[in-house]
Amino acid sequence: MNLKDKVAIVTGGSRGIGRAICLSLASRGTTVIACARSEEKLAALANESSDLSGKIIACKLDVTSEDDIKRVVTETEEAHGKIDILVNNAGITRDKSIGSMTVEDFDSVMDTNLRSVFLLTQAVLNPMVRARKGRIINIGSVSGIMGNAGQCNYSAAKAGVIGFSKTVAKEVARRKITCNVVAPGFIETEMTDVLSDKVKEMVKPLIPMRRFGTAEEIANVVAFLASDESSYVTGQVFVVDGGMHM
Ligand code: NAP
Repeated sequence: MNLKDKVAIVTGGSRGIGRAICLSLASRGTTVIACARSEEKLAALANESSDLSGKIIACKLDVTSEDDIKRVVTETEEAHGKIDILVNNAGITRDKSIGSMTVEDFDSVMDTNLRSVFLLTQAVLNPMVRARKGRIINIGSVSGIMGNAGQCNYSAAKAGVIGFSKTVAKEVARRKITCNVVAPGFIETEMTDVLSDKVKEMVKPLIPMRRFGTAEEIANVVAFLASDESSYVTGQVFVVDGGMHM
């Protein structure tokens, strides 16, 4: 997979799936701008990249802030001259049944998981259109396809990511920019650590592979979609869930 000398912005790089994506791209020669709010974790990640063929640069960014997004995209372009890859990975959950869900629970998940995808994608499209190439990879979820009790906010945001991505894919295809979604199932990260052992044991029989996935297994699919080799793939949703949704 050719990812040498690319420049990527990855949101939610401080831990979990985003962290694995940063390491995967940097190990293949990409300069990765790893974005999140936790500066210490990002700094530790950047230190880890010293032995890789690419590098990871820590970048404080709150994806709910339009100003932060504009600043990071402008600074990246100024420092590196281009943006080849955007991975919209930052995400949160605020799980509650619909009867208990507050407007704040709903809005915060929509802002972090969907509105940010719009803002970042819009911001990187100018440099990508000028370069006539680009890769946009949005991290969705099987919840956005199947629905999931307790996640009406999250499922709505992730379903929105799919519709958004297909539309962007159609709008920019002639400019050689692709836009795809990776939709993970249950992956071992802090997001799923909060599930009780009882819930985890209830879920595993629903997964044909009988286990949760790893962040690296998601990062491998993202690396392919970010690479030159995925040039004829756009507007697609790649479910990576051990066979749970089929
Ligand atoms: P995680 O371990 O909780 O990590 C979430 C990441 O998002 C962190 O790096 C966090 O960094 C960042 N983030 C959250 N709010 C942010 C904000 N306002 N601005 C910037 N960064 C923010 O979650 P994960 O499991 O790796 O999930 C990554 C993505 O995969 C999410 O989109 C999630 O919905 C999706 N996903 C996960 C699973 C799963 O089973 N784990 C399944 C399906 C989909 P800071 O807190 O430092 O800002």
